[in-house]
Amino acid sequence: MYFKRLELHGFKSFAEPVVIDFHEGITCVVGPNGSGKSNISDAIRWVLGEQSPKALRGGKMEEVIFNGTENRRPRGLAEVTLVIDNSAGILDIDYNEVAITRRMYRSGESEYMINSNACRLKDIRELIMDTGIGVDGYSIIGQGKIADIVSNKPESRRQIFEEAAGVVAYKTRKAESERKLENTRGNLERIDDIVNEIE
Ligand code: ATP
Repeated sequence: MYFKRLELHGFKSFAEPVVIDFHEGITCVVGPNGSGKSNISDAIRWVLGEQSPKALRGGKMEEVIFNGTENRRPRGLAEVTLVIDNSAGILDIDYNEVAITRRMYRSGESEYMINSNACRLKDIRELIMDTGIGVDGYSIIGQGKIADIVSNKPESRRQIFEEAAGVVAYKTRKAESERKLENTRGNLERIDDIVNEIE
């Protein structure tokens, strides 16, 4: 599994549509200071569901939308698509190529898609869980991240190993099932109370 292509339109400094092709192996992005290198990794984080503007080096989420220059008007929406090669079948979906899209309007409204079909953020999270590419994964190591990992509490460091070991999906499903069981227990108790009142 590897990232094949990143398509950006209206995201941060990428006002016009831009397609960046990656290949298997190492890709280096070079350019002068402020030319948009980090905006590329921000776009990858964002399309994979990042919800924290701070993690994208901003104050508000709308700041990811191209905000105009002297010669160009601001754009009304940002759109990023990340195309992943899934010929090894690591993502649990029946496609050799998976395109994840996120779109955001100035109104704050967001849309997510998998292979052009509208979906929920939860679907994207579930798809990439335990692959290491999620926003909490370790595939994007930003500046200062290594120092964070080393100085992390042992429990936080353990999360990184759990993601690599592929158990996060099971832990998430277990937590969801426990929540449902708890709700059901509450409902049963309410029914018991009603039955007792009637009797
Ligand atoms: P460095 O080498 O200094 O780390 P870089 O190549 O990583 O730089 P980035 O931080 O990716 O550069 O890009 C910064 C540029 O992106 C700045 O010029 C900034 O004005 C521009 N930028 C960020 N957000 C937006 C936005 N919403 N609209 C337009 N331009 C933006």
